[in-house]
Parts: sequence; C-alpha cells; structure tokens
Amino acid sequence: MSKVDSKLRPESILIHGAQEPDPITGSRAVPVYLTTAYQFNDTEHAAGLFELNIPGNIYTRLQNPTSDIFERRMAMMDGGAGALAFATGMSAILVGIMLIAKCGDEIITCDNLYGGTYSLFVNTFKKMGIGVKFVKSNDVDAIQKAITDKTKCVYAETIGNPKLDIADLEALSNAAHKNGIPLIVDNTVAPYILRPMDFGADIVVYSATKYIGGHGNVMGGVLVDSGKFDWSSGKFPLISDPEPSYHNKDFIKAFGNLAYIAKARTTLMRDMGPAISPFNSFMMLNGMETLHLRMKKHCDNAFEIAKFLQKHPKVSWVNYPGLEDSPEKERVKKYLPDGAGAMIGFGVKGNKVSGKEAGRSFINSLELISHLTNIGDTRTLATHPATTTHQQLSEEAQAANGVTPDYIRLSVGIEDAQDIMEDIDQALSKVK
Ligand code: PLP
Repeated sequence: MSKVDSKLRPESILIHGAQEPDPITGSRAVPVYLTTAYQFNDTEHAAGLFELNIPGNIYTRLQNPTSDIFERRMAMMDGGAGALAFATGMSAILVGIMLIAKCGDEIITCDNLYGGTYSLFVNTFKKMGIGVKFVKSNDVDAIQKAITDKTKCVYAETIGNPKLDIADLEALSNAAHKNGIPLIVDNTVAPYILRPMDFGADIVVYSATKYIGGHGNVMGGVLVDSGKFDWSSGKFPLISDPEPSYHNKDFIKAFGNLAYIAKARTTLMRDMGPAISPFNSFMMLNGMETLHLRMKKHCDNAFEIAKFLQKHPKVSWVNYPGLEDSPEKERVKKYLPDGAGAMIGFGVKGNKVSGKEAGRSFINSLELISHLTNIGDTRTLATHPATTTHQQLSEEAQAANGVTPDYIRLSVGIEDAQDIMEDIDQALSKVK
C-alpha cells in the first residue's frame, strides 16, 4: 500500500484507493488496459513470471492493470489483504468455495440464500460431490451441530433474500472459528455500509453487478480475502499442499497471508477462466467512486418507501429490516447503523382476487418502476417472485424460502422518493 493509500479515509478510498496518475501519460482516470497479453523483457523474465517467482503480468486471464486497481481498491474498502475480480458474482462464489472444498467435503449454509447460489449449491455442487447442509439462518446451535470433520466453511449472506434478515456475523464467525473453519460471506447487498471482516468474516464475496457497478449495465464479481485465516492447520490441503502445477510450490510459504487469493488467481482462474473484462473493471471503478453517495440515497429512499407502504391501505404487510418494528432491529443497529439496505418485501391486499393475482396486477400496472430480476440499479426495480424467480417451486417450497404468493420485492433506486411512491400508489390503486 502506498503512503497516500495508507492515510485515506473510507470515502476517499472509493475514489483514490490503489491508483496514482499514470506515470507515462498523466491520465488521471484509471486507464482501460485492453490488452490480452504483456511483452516479456527476455526469456529469463518470462520464466520467472511463469514460476510465480517474480510479480508481473502474463495474460489478462490472470492479471490486468485496470482490474488490479479494481481488486486492490475493493480490498482496501473492506479492510482485506487482497482480492480477485471475476466475470460474474456466481463465478466468484464458485471459485471461492472450490478453493477449499472438493468431492467428499461439505459446507454449511443458511436457508435464506439468493436463488442462483441456492441452485449452485443444490444442483452443481451435488454433481461435483460437495455436500451442502442448510440450516435456519442465524441458528448458531444448528450450525455447530451440523459441522463435521468434512466441513470446510460456513457460508452466509449479509442480508438474506427474500427473507431480508441480517446475518449475525459475529456469532457465525465465532462458530466457524471455534471449529477451525472460515466464514465466507456474500455482501452483495451492503457494500461500503457493512464491512463483514470487521465482524470476523474471513472471505467476502460480491456480485459487483449490483451496487458496486451500480447502474444496471455491467457484470462482475469479487472475492476479498482478509488475509487473517490460518490455512496451515492441515484441514485445507487444497491451499496448503504442494501445488503440482507449479513444481510443488508451497503457496503458504511463497505468498504468506495471500495464499488463498494467490491460489485463486494462479490455479482456478487459470484453469477455469472466469476473468473480468478490463472494461468492466473500469466500469466498476467508476461505480465505486460514487458508492458512498448512492448507498446512502438507496437506504434513505428504502426507509421512506417502507414507511409509506406500512401506512398504505392496500398493503397487507411490509418487510424492511430498517423499520422500527422489524425483528431485525437489534442486528441493524449493530451491523447496519447507516442504513438497512434497499430491498423491501411487501404484500398486496387482494379483495376479490388471490394474493398472487393482486401481486401480478400491481406489477403489470407499474409505469416508472421496472419489472425485472435484478437489484442494485440506480432505478427502482420490482419482481413478483411467485411468478418469476420462484415459479418452479411448489407453494410449500416457496413458503420455506419466504416467498408468499403476494410477495413483491422492491430494489429501491435513487430516484426522487416521491416519484417512486406515486408510481407505487397508482399501481396499487389498480389492484381490484
Ligand atoms: N449474490 C447475490 C446476493 C446476488 O443477488 C446475485 C445476483 O443476483 C449473485 C450473488 C450472483 O451475481 P451475478 O449475477 O453477478 O453472477
């Protein structure tokens, strides 16, 4: 970290972290290095790079100067030691777990996961022979009981979706650490406003596609490593064993507290290839520069809209963790004092129609709010999980995921809150 970097406060990290003006061109913005490969000085230099004995760039699947600034800035934002950027959030999650768990191993996770992650765990991991045990979110006793010798991590999301409950990170990390395993946390929905590593998380994963990019126009993912977890206990041979593809290199000896992230880059990224485009890293850096302002506005708007929905005669229930009467109140105070995120769940009252029909009618009447399955856009977005993301599940399975037939999920944007409320109001007025 440079002298300037080490002094930066959080808001300045988002704008300046890990970057100096380009020494050759003077370019103040981060240049987009659209190159596939990097010229070696000579054969000795090339061999040293390939042996991982000297740092430097080989090929953009492994390293890129634009992505490097994005990665280091993400690590600085979260108080981590290192980071690796990916093409998508899903690929970051996949690699993050494959680095420590293989066929025959297990992970423990919660019942409130994003649907794509749930599918990765129950379908693809099953085919790969990685066992996944689901426990009720925040049930630390159940986690303790579920951990066996085969368990390689506890995996949680900071704000569950669609349940919108807040992970008790301190309790989860204590439970994991007591058993010598790391806590991996998906913090997609609360970047900047929550630093999971401050509460014991060892690895933090992001879909940067959401708030970090922030404008609904670019995809990416990130793994951030705290650098604090001890991988040398013998429980993590995928990290600590000699690596045959680098002449049996000992990654812990060679890379110290960056062994996990170095292994991610030089083995799984090398072999599976879900690298972020340098252009997308540039877009993510642009997003980061205003992340603090946007997160505040997202949260302020969400709070106002949740209160508006609570008073609306056509709304039967509202789930927003920041509301005074939310069961999440204490955890919000501890983990999200500056704003409880921008996701709201609510139910539309259907008088003569079912909750499902009422939800459908509401969505079809929206004019400003977009009907699509994404979150973290500047624009306010709405989905009706019962007819979209969760339609393949039975009603019982939907209920177990917190998806009632009338459930509407809003990802509140940063428009004028009044405009969002007026659109909600006119759409609710059309629900018969
Ligand atoms: N994690 C969470 C919490 C998400 O909401 C998503 C996407 O919606 C992902 C991970 C996956 O990210 P991506 O769509 O960038 O692959």
